[in-house]
Amino acid sequence: MTTALAVTAVLHVDLEGVRARYECFTCGTKEGPVFGNEDVRAFTATIRNDHRARCTGESR
Ligand SMILES: [Zn+2]
Repeated sequence: MTTALAVTAVLHVDLEGVRARYECFTCGTKEGPVFGNEDVRAFTATIRNDHRARCTGESR
């Protein structure tokens, strides 16, 4: 499979365990995990932008 878009980060969400974590392949940072409905919802809603602001491996 070929794609022009590289996978640079992955957001893991476990709805059964109600937890989420974010792993950035660009800088190697792992954020989280966070637990609980409120924290998971806030985390998944903002982590991409939040991490982009502090990502140290940006190659653009
Ligand atoms: Zn990063």
